[in-house]
Amino acid sequence: MDLLPPWATPARLALQADARAFARDAVLPVADDLDPIKGEMPPELVSEMAAKGWFGITIPAASGGLGLGVFEYSLVSEELARAWLSVASILARGQGLGTQVTDPLRCEQLLKRSAEGDWIGSIALSEPDAGSDLAGVATTATRAGDGWVLTGHKRWAGNALAADFIEVLARVREPAPDEPRSAGLEPFLVVKERGRFPEGMTGTTIDKIGYHGFLTWDLLLDGVRVPDSDRLTGLYGDSGAADDEGGFASVQRGLNIARVHTAARAVGVARAALEDTTAYLQEREQFGHPIADFQALRFALADMAADVAQGRAMWCQVAHLLDEGVPCESEAAMVKLQCTEMAVRVTNQAMQLHGGNGYTTERRVERYWRDARLTTIFEGTSEIQRRIISDRLLPRS
Ligand SMILES: Cc1cc2nc3c(=O)[nH]c(=O)nc-3n(C[C@H](O)[C@H](O)[C@H](O)COP(=O)(O)OP(=O)(O)OC[C@H]3O[C@@H](n4cnc5c(N)ncnc54)[C@H](O)[C@@H]3O)c2cc1C
Repeated sequence: MDLLPPWATPARLALQADARAFARDAVLPVADDLDPIKGEMPPELVSEMAAKGWFGITIPAASGGLGLGVFEYSLVSEELARAWLSVASILARGQGLGTQVTDPLRCEQLLKRSAEGDWIGSIALSEPDAGSDLAGVATTATRAGDGWVLTGHKRWAGNALAADFIEVLARVREPAPDEPRSAGLEPFLVVKERGRFPEGMTGTTIDKIGYHGFLTWDLLLDGVRVPDSDRLTGLYGDSGAADDEGGFASVQRGLNIARVHTAARAVGVARAALEDTTAYLQEREQFGHPIADFQALRFALADMAADVAQGRAMWCQVAHLLDEGVPCESEAAMVKLQCTEMAVRVTNQAMQLHGGNGYTTERRVERYWRDARLTTIFEGTSEIQRRIISDRLLPRS
């Protein structure tokens, strides 16, 4: 499935072809080997992606990135997710994440490192008691001399041990009575060595049912020291945003990008299920026929293909809006909702069409099914996306 007009340009088609070949030749065999043993993606794979410049797709060329848009970022991510969801996810830990420090010179140096894949992070927003409701974050940042001390419990921090830094959301003060509950929450940069936790931090892995390729961590912070220079001005990698829009616009844009990126990843997983099922229907015979001859299955496959094509068209549209600077919070929530729910539906149907073989670890379809299931939960659940959309349609009484 190549890009169609009006989105297809020679440069985008070349990028897509490169990402597709890389996903097929370099990622898929690794996923087949490592996913069953819950293994981590090898550092060489990360280095190969870094060499292609993919950690800096959205970073301006002047700062060492490819200077492309959310569209190209999503395009590469869909292709990588077609092979292994986590490999598409790690790209989001570059793209200028963890570079929003106040010192402009250092910010520029970090952006360059981010673009080179030498500044790959982890995001620690969620906590045991604060998931959808991030305003409930209880981790504290307390003034200590000319720096800060972080104390609390973070949950779900993907890639935390392997990262160069962890972005930690912490409370610097309680909100005033007339302020929103989120007032006083700020992101901090915890700089660390790859493969080690910093002093004051311990981690245990969470045993997930899918999304293997990187580990997901439960982190205890007990007096982690952070210099004042590592207090961040924005939450997400967002080098493309105009700073004069102000902090909120910048954070909002980062969230919108994350939602489109997740939608594209979900389309990649669904496409994998569609492509494997298309092959399986022709390979498997029952009643003296390839099961591809049975109308019910042909129609089911047609529905899957239509679903994937619709998801693809939708992320292309919303990524384009973001690249054009059009405010599209509702559309970003819609594309996250639609594409991830679609991926659950399509991978579920793919398993059904594989019959008993689908319910084994011998076929990739079970991996797609497990990975798709996550996409409606992380990066804001489907219910939270529906809340965003409905809040724009209906005033609250
Ligand atoms: C594998 C994995 C990786 C993750 N990676 C990261 C990461 O790297 N960094 C990070 O910070 N976080 C990460 N997360 C956390 C993720 O963002 C949260 O799990 C998600 O936001 C949901 O929060 P929760 O799990 O606390 O569920 P809850 O918020 O407890 O939600 C439980 C249920 O209630 C529903 N619900 C909650 N509030 C409302 C409401 N107002 N209206 C209607 N329904 C509601 C939810 O939709 C859900 O169905 C990850 C999670 C997983 C599972």
